[in-house]
Amino acid sequence: MARVLIHPASYENVREAVDRAFELFPLELQGKKVFIKPNVLRASEAQEAIVTNPAVMRAVVEKVESMRPASIVVGDNPGLFNYGANELCFQQTGLLEAAKGYYENIGNDSQKVDFNPDFLPTVSLSRIVLDADIFISLPKFKTHGLTVMTGAIKNSYGILPGAQKAKLHKAAGNPERFHEMVVDVFRLRVPDLFIMDAVVGMEGNGPASPDLREIGLVLASNNAVAMDAVVATMMGCEPGRLRFLQTAKEAGLGDYDLDTIDIVGELRRLPDFKLPPLGGEAIFHNQAVQEILHDRTLVRPQADPDLCTGCGTCVDQCPVSALSMNGQLPQVDPDLCITCFCCQEICPEKAMNLR
Ligand code: SF4
Ligand code: SF4
Repeated sequence: MARVLIHPASYENVREAVDRAFELFPLELQGKKVFIKPNVLRASEAQEAIVTNPAVMRAVVEKVESMRPASIVVGDNPGLFNYGANELCFQQTGLLEAAKGYYENIGNDSQKVDFNPDFLPTVSLSRIVLDADIFISLPKFKTHGLTVMTGAIKNSYGILPGAQKAKLHKAAGNPERFHEMVVDVFRLRVPDLFIMDAVVGMEGNGPASPDLREIGLVLASNNAVAMDAVVATMMGCEPGRLRFLQTAKEAGLGDYDLDTIDIVGELRRLPDFKLPPLGGEAIFHNQAVQEILHDRTLVRPQADPDLCTGCGTCVDQCPVSALSMNGQLPQVDPDLCITCFCCQEICPEKAMNLR
């Protein structure tokens, strides 16, 4: 039976809840490669509650450290507005400091894998996700205009570096297919443990809404469908109405029926919780959003001949080998480029522009 822990917590005293999560969902970490993925949507201040709070992540990192793993990597691939600013996002949110030296820009190294050809035949995902023995996902309790909520399943969308996320948005074409595609991404590597920051959550028109909600909880589970069903219920939304939960259930990833979930703690609906409109039609067909998505899939790097020294660093670092030297200048293969912006970030001469 899937189990979900609901534990009281504050940011000052979160370690107790994290300890309880590891007690209830024991993991053997000694000698293992551990990957910890917070939700780092974009550069923001921690108190805006757009990302997993650094206090929660620090408590998890310290707990994992104490279990003597072979290695720890903390990372994420930020969303639409910050593809090329991975470290900045971690720095501004306080997550860089909370990562205690284990942060890596996971967008710098990726591996191509088969995907659902209905959307894209292949995707590149951060290599660490495939290399890790143990994957710990740290979602944030937030609403989302497209999927109603962003929790355990949606947090895995960040295993894709760069503009593939925008490409997949476009390939999905409508909210229903977007829900299905999110589950396909999640299935590429199902995390082993989920610990959710629900100390301060978000309501209204997430995932970057100014409407914050003091909830005072940490949730944990070893099953994403069960955790998201509990979150949906707390938000006042019938889990079975969420297409991505239906898809996940059909795929055998778990059950959203509360009768099938062992809930450790008190499950209470949050009174008057503000949900975004069900269905996601408004945001999906919002012209400004569509234009941004479209732009993101078109933009490509181009070296400035006046600044480029032809050092080849960008060619060596491109995670999908989309760059090659053409004489003294690097040239991009637009079909291979995933617009991860790593070449721009890494260029010592600041010669790489996005056109
Ligand atoms: S890293 Fe910068 S300077 Fe070096 S080849 Fe690439 S664009 Fe040119
Ligand atoms: S060419 Fe640059 S932006 Fe495109 S995939 Fe390679 S590193 Fe990323």
